[in-house]
Amino acid sequence: MSTTPLTILMHEADNVAIVANDGGLDAGTVLRSGLTLKDRVPQGHKVALQAIAAGEPVRRYGIPIGYALKDIPAGAWVHERLLQMPEARGLEGLPIATVKPPALPPLEGYTFEGYRNADGSVGTRNILAITQTVQCVAGVTSFAVQRIKAELLPRYPNVDDVVALEHGYGCGVAIDAPDAVVPIRTLRHISQNPNFGGEVMVVSLGCEKLQPERLMPPGSFEIVDQRTPGATPEALDVVCLQDDAHVGFMSMVESIMRQAEQHLQRLDRRRRETVPASELVVGVQCGGSDAFSGVTANPAVGFCTDLLVRAGASVMFSETTEVRDGIDQLTSRATTPEVAQAMIREMAWYDAYLQRGSVDRSANTTPGNKKGGLSNIVEKAMGSIVKSGSAPISNVLAPGEKLKAKGLTYAATPASDFICGTLQLAAGMNLHVFTTGRGTPYGLAAVPVIKVATRTDLARRWHDLMDVNAGTIADGTATIEQVGWELFRLMLDVASGRKKTWAEQWKLHNALVLFNPAPVT
Ligand code: CA
Repeated sequence: MSTTPLTILMHEADNVAIVANDGGLDAGTVLRSGLTLKDRVPQGHKVALQAIAAGEPVRRYGIPIGYALKDIPAGAWVHERLLQMPEARGLEGLPIATVKPPALPPLEGYTFEGYRNADGSVGTRNILAITQTVQCVAGVTSFAVQRIKAELLPRYPNVDDVVALEHGYGCGVAIDAPDAVVPIRTLRHISQNPNFGGEVMVVSLGCEKLQPERLMPPGSFEIVDQRTPGATPEALDVVCLQDDAHVGFMSMVESIMRQAEQHLQRLDRRRRETVPASELVVGVQCGGSDAFSGVTANPAVGFCTDLLVRAGASVMFSETTEVRDGIDQLTSRATTPEVAQAMIREMAWYDAYLQRGSVDRSANTTPGNKKGGLSNIVEKAMGSIVKSGSAPISNVLAPGEKLKAKGLTYAATPASDFICGTLQLAAGMNLHVFTTGRGTPYGLAAVPVIKVATRTDLARRWHDLMDVNAGTIADGTATIEQVGWELFRLMLDVASGRKKTWAEQWKLHNALVLFNPAPVT
């Protein structure tokens, strides 16, 4: 890293820039512009480029991220305690589908090796998933899965893994509450994720509120083979632990193993085939963000998002509280008024959800975000939203819904890493991209997670956890375009199984966490 003082300006109208140097810059440092720092400014934090009087806007990304609470001299450290956060933009009078970006030229000729499913989707891994109706069965299922991995899986070398879809739902909940539709459809749709090959197997307790037929009603689980119309639908494969036939714990475990083996046999016969890059379904999110997120990793992901859309693939961006402050950018990029209205509907639903808990979107930022230089949610949102690139937004999903079309989709989810990942899995993601500045070892059992570091320092220290270093953009040794292409090519390698992500190598698997906005009883 260069010892020359480096600052990064995001927009010509900005009156602050962030310090890029590892370890920050000391008071008295003279910037290239001739400005002398009045305070020590930590890496990723903001320096005032000019005097900002009390009440005046502090601008980053060309917009006010806050208003000065007192006079700030040029060269001073602009931290969150000096800023009054702006009110959230109202949801009335927004620009609706006003931006008509020129059509991006198609990107042709890119392929990967994937598992084509009977429903037309494509998997990037070949995994047996065991669905559970209720948390009560988690221990027994986990015991059975350990035995399946040890005793059965070695006989089916084309199957990558066996995954228990453990969760905290199913009983002790207001199952008829209107919002209970969210966790229930999430669980149903996760069972249908492309990486599970259409093999649905359920472990049920027996007495739970979420009965197997409520979780997987007819039509939601059969292997609908488009190549053999009229094929007879199969009955749902359920192992019920309270079944009278089970005498003793081992008989339950053996039932699960016996049923699992039938699915393993079918999954093992599958082979990868060359498919176009348009079969990628990529979920992007960030976690442990810092001020570099919106400068390096997220813009590189945004560039890659545009490449994916040009290749005809599906990309989802999410994290409602982290895009709420950029709602006008999103509604203006909607392809149709209906898409813009769907976005407004999701934001309004989320505003009301937060209000029920007596908070607003400002509850989002963490101590780590602030330490990394992000003063508030407005600044964080401006850096988060760039993951969506510049393509038109053609679709909106409510939490737990399944993807309906290719192109760029706004999948409304909480920003919580585990809940967002779980909902993107339900939407049908077959590859996950995760950017981080503070660092998180995040991973999922069901899909490969490519992690992108925002800073070279993090990529160096976490060299066996981070898959891509976007910090090279701040260092000046790579461009956003170069890192975007690197990520795109890595996606095709990872999707094909030619490369494993670090989270896969170490088997770092975070829990599935269902979003349950309904009451618990
Ligand atoms: Ca997140």
